Amino acid sequence: MPAPDYAKGSHTDTDVLIVGAGAAALEAAHTLADHRITSIILEAQARIGGRIWTQQNNGFPPKEKGALQIHGEDAVTFNVLQRHNIAWQAVPNEGHTYIGNKLTQDRHSPLPPTEVLIGSLLQEAKDYLEKGGQDIGIIAFVDLVADRLPGVSNVRKGKRLLKNLLRNEFASNDVSLSALVSEQVSYCVPNFIIPNGYGEMTERMAQETSVDTRTQTPVQSIRWGQDGVTAKAKNGQTFHGSQAIITVPIGVLKEKRLKFSPALPPKTRHAIEDLGAGKASKVFLETNEPVFDADVEAVRTKEESQLLTIRRSNDSHATLWAHIGGRTYDSPDALRAVLRDDIRKMASLDDHRSCVPDDVVSWEKLEYFRCAYSYHERGIQRDCRAELAKSIGHILFFAGEATHSKNPGTVHGALESGIRAAQEIIALRVPTPPPPLSSLIPQVRAW
Ligand SMILES: Cc1cc2nc3c(=O)[nH]c(=O)nc-3n(C[C@H](O)[C@H](O)[C@H](O)COP(=O)(O)OP(=O)(O)OC[C@H]3O[C@@H](n4cnc5c(N)ncnc54)[C@H](O)[C@@H]3O)c2cc1C
Repeated sequence: MPAPDYAKGSHTDTDVLIVGAGAAALEAAHTLADHRITSIILEAQARIGGRIWTQQNNGFPPKEKGALQIHGEDAVTFNVLQRHNIAWQAVPNEGHTYIGNKLTQDRHSPLPPTEVLIGSLLQEAKDYLEKGGQDIGIIAFVDLVADRLPGVSNVRKGKRLLKNLLRNEFASNDVSLSALVSEQVSYCVPNFIIPNGYGEMTERMAQETSVDTRTQTPVQSIRWGQDGVTAKAKNGQTFHGSQAIITVPIGVLKEKRLKFSPALPPKTRHAIEDLGAGKASKVFLETNEPVFDADVEAVRTKEESQLLTIRRSNDSHATLWAHIGGRTYDSPDALRAVLRDDIRKMASLDDHRSCVPDDVVSWEKLEYFRCAYSYHERGIQRDCRAELAKSIGHILFFAGEATHSKNPGTVHGALESGIRAAQEIIALRVPTPPPPLSSLIPQVRAW
């Protein structure tokens, strides 16, 4: 995308400024536009979509570098897809499991489906916390209740596989993730994908809402007060609105990459400090040789690569990737080595040609993300997400996945947070109806 040619040092006014152009921002802009409230979206990168990042792949199945699936049939995402006439398809619920040096269909695996495993663990944790149990962290908690979880203790390395699933799901490491996630997150199935890529959704949202979207405009500072909000971008441009919705990822906020003046109130600052910024990487491999049998589309494993997705375009070509959560890697090569070694093991390959991973993305290392998604830190008792979602003086509003108490770390949570912030602004602009007559009667009597 060519660099936009906006005059340096120029100033633009609008009703509402929106910082970031991910799912939350685009849905906020749509909701505002529906009520004839204009907005400008300021996005640091050359592309929109944020953590929805589809890379088209020369006619082969697209690579999803960020979000892949829509979780559950009730996700608000379907409203957006219907609005833009975008097709989706269900993902077969059954995958494969690699454990005990064997790759088996889930239906023959000694472990139950992932949603049953995680669902029963979260239920155990909830009961335990309700009885006053100490929050030792949900991953450590696996060791405590393994005997009561279906299948886990009967299988060698069953606990390890479940811990991998948790790291993957919550992008958090073993010590940091609170057992309180059990009270907050609902684990939803079935799953769906957008065959042309998730990016189709954000592209269409931006096109059809036709909101003024300024890419390559990283915001550096936000000045806010009774006269509204002024955002200053790296190139010197300034933008002013009566309100602003800030949707940048929690990692960016934690590293104070946006300077607020005056400083944010202590409650908001503490919410940002106390939320966790999760880590996750994806490592991709293109292959023209059949690495796995044709029916293998997803593999969960106790190995370091955690979760594999395989997409085939024809009999010979496949795009394959691992999604590894809760860990970080010193170099892209270290990450490539994980996938290469695991595939050789899982597919019993001697041939090196078929498994040379290429593309790599580690979200916590990206300048405008600094995390994969937020998580609830162990030891924090309050709902930091709800705290962050509270408007500051009806002027600054935070949205994005980290502000959603029930569906954090998801696209539907981000979309809902954008709607919530926009509706709060809309409510402020609706003229206040005259007070009901009954409330005036005592004053009339006094006259
Ligand atoms: C690897 C991975 C896999 C995932 N898988 C799934 C999945 O299968 N299903 C699912 O539902 N969810 C999934 N998610 C989570 C989902 O992608 C996110 O929750 C959601 O996309 C977040 O949207 P958002 O609008 O809150 O933030 P973002 O999409 O991150 O948007 C924030 C935007 O702010 C921009 N920005 C940052 N700093 C600045 C600045 N200074 N100035 C201007 N702009 C700035 C960023 O460039 C970004 O575009 C996944 C995430 C990752 C990382």
